[in-house]
Amino acid sequence: MRYQDKVVLVTGASSGIGRQTALAFAKQGAKVAVVARRAELGQETVALIKAAGGEGLFIQADVCQANQVQHVVDTVLKQFGRLDCAFNNAGVAEPISNTVDLSEEDFDRVINTNLKAVWLCMKYQIPAMLKTGGGAIVNMSSVWGILGTAMGVPAYVASKHGVIGLTKATALEFGKQGIRVNCISPAWVPTEANAPVLDNPDLHGMILAQHPIGRLGDTQDVAQAVMWLCSEEAAWYTAQNLVLDGGYSVQ
Ligand code: NDP
Repeated sequence: MRYQDKVVLVTGASSGIGRQTALAFAKQGAKVAVVARRAELGQETVALIKAAGGEGLFIQADVCQANQVQHVVDTVLKQFGRLDCAFNNAGVAEPISNTVDLSEEDFDRVINTNLKAVWLCMKYQIPAMLKTGGGAIVNMSSVWGILGTAMGVPAYVASKHGVIGLTKATALEFGKQGIRVNCISPAWVPTEANAPVLDNPDLHGMILAQHPIGRLGDTQDVAQAVMWLCSEEAAWYTAQNLVLDGGYSVQ
């Protein structure tokens, strides 16, 4: 299998895109570290991995806390002996609010989770990967990392733009040491996070109409792209932002 004997770490793997991607890697033979705060749901992801014949380990952590991120990477090295790939996917959005009404607390929470935590994850993942000659990292951005929107998520837009810049800088720093770093920018993929918006039939219809390919994304679309980014087939691909959006952003 494509990821046989590889060790993969996925943050935000208790639900949505992260869970699907963790499962997809495991089905391809990877040993997968499942990271999130909600223990019951994280364990559920591991149970799904095991039911599919794979190997997974849940490590409970808040990715905004440096000591917890360090503990995650230490645990991966202790349990699996190496770290080959990481998908830094954990993310949140603020309650819909314009720039003036947005609270400082929500701004900090979104930037800390979506941007600072991606840096913290790479800070500990890269030294671990270097021990075995390198690795591949994929950071989660969004189409709103390349576009603005007046939908009322200014901190989210800022955080996702930041992820693309951070990805470029880190990729350039560590390219010669065998570390590839890319990010991915999906358009709308129905998950728990955007259910309140997509459950509204009018909003769903409006958003669907913005996807020229005629459908919203699926968590499996993202999982497959992340697995390609981490694979040997993508060996010359680094410092890039893969826009995965059914044509959303080119209109
Ligand atoms: P979900 O809400 O299903 O997943 C978010 C995940 O992030 C959860 O597993 C959650 O786990 C985890 N998480 C959040 N905060 C923390 C934290 N502090 N520490 C550890 N884990 C955390 O949403 P999606 O699957 O939709 O989102 C996944 C990523 O994809 C996000 O970064 C999102 O911005 C991005 N994205 C999503 C799109 C979409 O349309 N769905 C489009 C573009 C990008 P827990 O609560 O258990 O900690």
